[in-house]
Amino acid sequence: PTLAYDHSNIFARILRGEIPAKKVYEDDFALAFHDIAPQAPVHVLVIPKGAYVSWDDFSAHAPAEEIAGFIRAVGHVAREQGLVAPGYRLLANVGMDGGQEVPHLHVHLFGGKPLGRMIA
Ligand code: 5GP
Repeated sequence: PTLAYDHSNIFARILRGEIPAKKVYEDDFALAFHDIAPQAPVHVLVIPKGAYVSWDDFSAHAPAEEIAGFIRAVGHVAREQGLVAPGYRLLANVGMDGGQEVPHLHVHLFGGKPLGRMIA
């Protein structure tokens, strides 16, 4: 891989069960858990089980099966959280300008209220 993955990052530690998380879904490809500092009534993070730094790393390097499994899992969590009818927002921060703080790919799933327009 072109990007070095830091196996000590906080989400790697959650995946290894070294620190707790409020899990909402898990399968072979993904783990979903509540964000520790929720910015909406529903704020869930969905992460792939593989060691990928970011959306860029994942989209470039993950096997197709892992990409499909992860995307399926994101959709599953949104449905399971009851967000499909009211609607929801997905967000992935990438790198410094994107404001990414944790160097393991995570997709934010926001919902539970009208979210307004996206701020760029
Ligand atoms: P980023 O800015 O990297 O896209 O978002 C990182 C997110 O991870 C933030 O929303 C932050 O609140 C959340 N977060 C950071 N540390 C932890 C943690 O230990 N547990 C959980 N559940 N969420 C965390």
